[in-house]
Formats: sequence, C-alpha cells, structure tokens
Amino acid sequence: MLQPPYPELDDLLKMIGEAGRHLAEIEASEGAAGNISVCFRWTLEPRSRFPVIDEIELPEPVPELAGASFLVSGSGRRLREIIDEPTASLAYITVNEGGKTGRLFTSYQRRFEKATSEFNSHLAVHHDQMRSSGTNFHAVIHAQPVHLTYLSHIPRYQDEKYLNTNLLRWQPETIINLPEGIGFIPFRLPGSAELMAANVESLRTHRIVVWAKHGVMARSDVSVKRATDRVEYAETAAKYEYLNLCAGGAGERLSAEEIRAICKTFNVQQSIF
Ligand SMILES: [Zn+2]
Repeated sequence: MLQPPYPELDDLLKMIGEAGRHLAEIEASEGAAGNISVCFRWTLEPRSRFPVIDEIELPEPVPELAGASFLVSGSGRRLREIIDEPTASLAYITVNEGGKTGRLFTSYQRRFEKATSEFNSHLAVHHDQMRSSGTNFHAVIHAQPVHLTYLSHIPRYQDEKYLNTNLLRWQPETIINLPEGIGFIPFRLPGSAELMAANVESLRTHRIVVWAKHGVMARSDVSVKRATDRVEYAETAAKYEYLNLCAGGAGERLSAEEIRAICKTFNVQQSIF
C-alpha cells in the first residue's frame, strides 16, 4: 500500500526500467524472456506518453479492478531495453466498468503487437492480491534466473519442503526476506489457464513462486524493486545450493537452530524450520 504523494507516470516508467535492467544484470532475463507489470488505483494522465487509444478485451474478467490501471511490458520486448525507451516496450491499460474490457494506451514508438503472453497471470494475481489486501499498488515480475530454474529440473527440488529447507540455509537474509519460503508449481504450459490459476494460489501464501523448468513469478505491494529483490534473494540462495552441489556438498550451511535464533532476534514469523 502506497501513501500520497503517489508516483507520477514517469516515476513508474523509471522504476520498471530499472527493474528490467537489474533482472538482466543478474542473468534472470535473457533475450526477451521475462515480463513486468504494475497495477495502481490512483489516476494518472497517460496520453502525454501513450497517445494511441484502443479498446481491448481483458484475458480474464477483473470486476474489482474497474478504474485501476496497469503498466505492462509488451510481448517480445527485452526487459533490459525498457529503461532506454519505456514507451516502445510498455502499454498502459485502464480497466473499464465491469472489468471485462480496458482502454489500451500505447505510443507511436510501440514495438509490440500485444501485452506479454503471461498477462493473464499478471492480471489474475493483481486482481486476487488487490482484492484481498486492499492495496492501491501491486507489482508482478516474471523472470528466468538460471540457478533457480536449473534446480527446478532436479526431481528432489520439485518438493516445496525440500526446496525451502535446502535453499533458505545459506544466508540469514533469505529467511528474513522470504519468511513464507518459495512456492513451487509443477511444469505448466506458458501462458496457460493452469499456470495462471497456480500462480494465484501459490502467491496467496508466498512472495515468490518457482515455475518448474521455466522461471519464477514474484510480487510486491511496495515497489517493483522489492519484487526484483525477491527474485534476487531466491536466485542467490539457488546459486549457493548449486555451488554446493558442484563442490560435493562441502558447505556446512546454517543449522535449523541458527535460523530459528535469527528469526527470534529479527522477529520473523516462519514455519519452515
Ligand atoms: Zn518465461
């Protein structure tokens, strides 16, 4: 939930651009992989930046988001390039009354046909979170961090308990920033209704979820940067885990007692250890 003064349009464009660049820096967005969206309830004037107006059907009816707006990356656009020319890679959508259609605002510089192919998941997660928490701002990122995605190919890491009790033991920060742990979704077709439903479900109880053999989705109701941080914390944990596998399991890791002591000191509620 954000307090006034709310970010202006250019502030939001910059935040998304910086997140896109950082996701590429941490190798979580090769080529045109990954996508970003934010949903907000305050009113902005998009036409100075996005003067071309169309009516679109939304992939999913979102009646409770009527009047809310989105900024979302375009299909096939590179996250690392958003910062250079945001209006070429982003669309602005305001949800119409009833929540089935929206007004799509784009730029003459637009270099994409449609919003990201994962827009159905973004929309459904924003809808679910904003409805249940009452927040006026919500950010969602899909990224493809290498080590975390690699581990999701190894059968024993496809168990949520195993994944979390092994990954959350490399640094004190991990449990502090991801106290609910990392969610896990078995492989689902990209852009599918099954992946969308699984994201909604898992992100109710997690801040980040792994999509097996594909990547992650992270959310935040504070900032795009905070959602990016969650990708980075989970990926760093996976990198340690990968290093340890390569080193024949030589790492001692934080013990369950040490993690419980960290949580007690920093007042973190968790049920993993
Ligand atoms: Zn993807």
